[in-house]
Amino acid sequence: MPHNRNFFFHRKAAAGACLLLCLTPLLSLSAPSIPALAAGGLPAPAAAGAASSLPVLSAAEAAAASSLPVLSAADAAASVSSLPVLSAADAAAASSLPVCEADPDGRVTWQEGFFYEPLSEEVKARITGISYGEGCIVPYEDLRYLNILYVDFHGETQVGEIICNQAIAQDLVEIFYELYLAGYPLESVRLVDEFGGDDTLSMEHNNTSCFNFRVVDGTSNLSKHAYGLAIDINPLYNPYVTWPGGKQRVSPAAAAPFADRSLDFPNKIDEDDLCYQLFAERGFTWGGHWRTMKDYQHFQKALPED
Ligand SMILES: [Zn+2]
Repeated sequence: MPHNRNFFFHRKAAAGACLLLCLTPLLSLSAPSIPALAAGGLPAPAAAGAASSLPVLSAAEAAAASSLPVLSAADAAASVSSLPVLSAADAAAASSLPVCEADPDGRVTWQEGFFYEPLSEEVKARITGISYGEGCIVPYEDLRYLNILYVDFHGETQVGEIICNQAIAQDLVEIFYELYLAGYPLESVRLVDEFGGDDTLSMEHNNTSCFNFRVVDGTSNLSKHAYGLAIDINPLYNPYVTWPGGKQRVSPAAAAPFADRSLDFPNKIDEDDLCYQLFAERGFTWGGHWRTMKDYQHFQKALPED
């Protein structure tokens, strides 16, 4: 099964990358290419919805940051040599393993401002009865809460919240970190619960979101979003286009001007787009490649057993 093999090769490669990053996070943070890192503590997830722009590091602060302690080469070697080697059985379960160590609360931090963790009781209360609706077949334990930073349409750094399946949490923190470094603009990254779980309303607000226990629009089939295995990016500029009865239908309706993909406009996802490339290289499929319908905002990943 070549797909699965590639998947695990990728996980191993990601684990190596994470290890290096985990050992030298401060070196990474002092990289001059980072557009806007928050100085000091970041707002707690509970306050994220209200968070506005975060402060930008001055050159002097960036220089000071580089003086923070970094692991010596000897320390790094010792840490590496003590890591367990995955057996074949372990590898089969690897998709659910975080590639960075979790802290005692289960939080896995990829970079400052980019982490994921099991759903807190507070988060469960926020989503239950909305995106986590009645009859939801996905256990809370399979979901992860992500805190990320992103650059909004005004060039400001914002805190975003995402809920996804644990199987793609590591992929998403890596992807959103890369998008952030590149200054890739996202208008809004809020839980769909803030839109009452209404996917159309979320799309109309050009909101990037992932988990929502719902059926595919116009069908009775569960969407990959129902499992937290699909994410929609800048949906207003990258609509869901179907042709019921041969007539084009664009969702959300306000996105009609962006259904013609031969046009060039900002925030358009196509194969040349960084967002597309980051998802594709991690094994996600893109709705823009579907034949009978087009979902230009949509990336999803199949679990190894699918
Ligand atoms: Zn979608």
